[in-house]
Amino acid sequence: MLKLPVYLDNNATTPMDPRVLETMLPYFTEHFGNAASRNHPFGWEAESAVDYAREQVAQLIGADPKEIIFTSGATEGDNLGIKGIFEMYAAKGNHIITATTEHKAVLDTCKHLEKLGADVTYLQVKADGLIDLAELEAAIKPTTILISIMYANNEIGVIQPVKEISTIAKRHGVLFFTDATQAVGKITVNVIEDGIDLLTFTAHKMYGPKGIGALYVRRKNPRVKVTAQMDGGGHERSMRSGTLNVPGIVGFGKACELCRLEMEEDTKRISALRDKLETALLKVEEAYVNGNREHRLPHVANISFKHVEGEGLLMGFNKNIALSSGSACTSASLEPSYVLKALGLGDDLAHSSLRFGLGRFTTEEQIDYTVEQITNTVLKLREMSPLWEMYKEGIDLNSIEWAHH
Ligand SMILES: *Cc1c(COP(=O)(O)O)cnc(C)c1O
Repeated sequence: MLKLPVYLDNNATTPMDPRVLETMLPYFTEHFGNAASRNHPFGWEAESAVDYAREQVAQLIGADPKEIIFTSGATEGDNLGIKGIFEMYAAKGNHIITATTEHKAVLDTCKHLEKLGADVTYLQVKADGLIDLAELEAAIKPTTILISIMYANNEIGVIQPVKEISTIAKRHGVLFFTDATQAVGKITVNVIEDGIDLLTFTAHKMYGPKGIGALYVRRKNPRVKVTAQMDGGGHERSMRSGTLNVPGIVGFGKACELCRLEMEEDTKRISALRDKLETALLKVEEAYVNGNREHRLPHVANISFKHVEGEGLLMGFNKNIALSSGSACTSASLEPSYVLKALGLGDDLAHSSLRFGLGRFTTEEQIDYTVEQITNTVLKLREMSPLWEMYKEGIDLNSIEWAHH
């Protein structure tokens, strides 16, 4: 049975798993206590639920529960991790290395810190979206305190060489922070094996609730600390004050446990569907995959259909297929994706991209339907497109001056 509309925007957010909701419900009503209330059973109950969830969350990434700081999500984790290190390690230096394809939560945090005296290097990426490790190492200075490189990209799914990055960081005594929002729960992430010092992720990208996430902060080899960005009651080892979101945390814990137990099977099924989708769509003339296809999340495909506008393409079927032509954050504007531009794509390809994010609830019928709809829409739009006609006649479209919006 085909279920419409088809949801293929799982990189923006995932639906919550019903098993997660079920675990959360009692913590809105009968178990409503404040986890910091030490004097009565309501508080104790909440606290023990949080402790349990903290273990579930830590286990998924190979951390110690004491190393988990609950936040409101990955944006807060990015801010707390980067700003918190910048302040805490100010005596050591002010230089931060990141990359141009990072999420806005990282890039805008770095821009903010530049106004406060930070020296930030934004590494370019190669045409496949991977950073150049030699360039990374060459960028390190005596004042470098932090390398911030995401685990996997939210638009193209490209997975960075995290172990190699951490080895370089360690060799130079620099801390390594990674925004692992798109990777955790989808592929194996282990803070010990990967040599990560700080890591952020969020529940709503892995079948948990919105408004809850975590920052992992390493406690030994080396012991890392971040300066709190919110002052208050001293929760979360004084690194993040504020009454804990107990139902959210309980749901986040359950979501992590489900991912840990079901990742292998989910990945097998979902990557087979992704490959089926990709193979079928690449049969369309002038269709290209953006980003490295080998070092890539198993559920993501970013494909450009030359000489077709992504936004126009979406309008052809977006009542029935939920997709994005860039990241959720930038798709409100008509600017082409800065991530695709960073790969060196021209406007023609950057404007014509679709980001497919499959998920736990994607079915084979939905993929078959998507292939058919998109193929037909591309063909139809091209039939009406003067650009496509010119292209077919062999006119060099790069020789034409474009008016930009
Ligand atoms: C979604 C996302 C974020 C933001 O997460 P929120 O929990 O919504 O704040 C940050 N980084 C990456 C890579 C993301 O995909």
